[in-house]
Amino acid sequence: MLKKSISNRVKEMSIKEVKAKSILRKHKKIESWFISHYGMNLYRGCTHNCVYCDGRAEGYYVDGEFGQDVVVKVNAIDILQRELSPKRKRTPFKQSFIMVGGGVGDSYQPIEKEYQLTRKALRLVNQYNFPVHMLTKSTLIKKDIDILKKINEKNRVIVSFSFSSVDDKISAIFEPGVPSPTERLKTLAFFKDNGFACGMFLVPVIPFITDTPKLIEGAIKKAVEVGLDFVIFGGMTLKQGKQKDFFFNILKKHYPKLTIEYEKIYTGDKWGNATGEYYSSINQTFNTIAKTYKIPRRIPVSLFKDILSEDDLVIVILEHIDYFLKTEGRPSPYGYAAYSISKLKEPLRAMRGDLQKLKGVGKTTERIILEILDIGTSSYYKKLSNP
Ligand code: SF4
Repeated sequence: MLKKSISNRVKEMSIKEVKAKSILRKHKKIESWFISHYGMNLYRGCTHNCVYCDGRAEGYYVDGEFGQDVVVKVNAIDILQRELSPKRKRTPFKQSFIMVGGGVGDSYQPIEKEYQLTRKALRLVNQYNFPVHMLTKSTLIKKDIDILKKINEKNRVIVSFSFSSVDDKISAIFEPGVPSPTERLKTLAFFKDNGFACGMFLVPVIPFITDTPKLIEGAIKKAVEVGLDFVIFGGMTLKQGKQKDFFFNILKKHYPKLTIEYEKIYTGDKWGNATGEYYSSINQTFNTIAKTYKIPRRIPVSLFKDILSEDDLVIVILEHIDYFLKTEGRPSPYGYAAYSISKLKEPLRAMRGDLQKLKGVGKTTERIILEILDIGTSSYYKKLSNP
């Protein structure tokens, strides 16, 4: 393990090089927000230093000062080579997008200029023929367009950027280390022009600051102008401890009157969730505006139908239906049904006649599953998802 400071090269950053035991993180069930079974983080910690980042919370990030210290997995490429190689004896890969980004470190934070781990990882993804979903806040991703194009030609690449709003001034307060929303939108337009599927993760909106109808509409309008394929929406979590303390310092400085409002919606939930009433109110605002602008609120089926296994397609569609219903305040058994299917040891198709034996699957769910098995989609899903 080596610790070194490269403050002469990258401002105020301390780097710790470590040897990782594994790189690919496999989810127990396909992740229906990203359409992914596997994720990877090549760096741990993030000098983008977004004020709301939950990577700062105890339990996520243990080493050093979040925002300044970055752990680099220096052997990541050797490990990934072994993990992706078809020669390795293990259960076969589940077809889905490999997710690069998310978690507690942006793959295109400044350290990538030095180590190029993301670039090297993409070379392997290309060599071993996987589709990939990139999620970042950094325009540095443009440097890898050559490899991304190759992957996109053979398989598929989704390029997503996350935003808390498209307001450059607010972003400068809460996202001090990343290019402005205007720059991010320009980069998305660049990738769209180059034939990539692109999306906006409007996550997290910042309570009482970027969750207003005006700013949500502003973001959706821009997404439509750029021709994005979807906008995915989500509220902010705020865990007690380091994350909340850090966030409140900035909040008090720029929006002192809002601290009382925050105490009303963040009432000490273990996961840092705000109250259900708050989330349902912002979800309703988002749904109404997204429907007006006819922008998909989940990754469209057309982008993954040809990639996923039949069972995973069913799981994702059911979970998307679950999302649509729950964010409209309606009850839904579909998430539970999707979970039951993810636990099956045999293919769903082999159970065609016995679907109602599965937990959470009643008559209506059975009908939806059969339709997906027969024609690869569901009319109920289309009705709900149609913006
Ligand atoms: S870019 Fe993402 S991981 Fe990095 S600080 Fe911001 S929210 Fe956290």
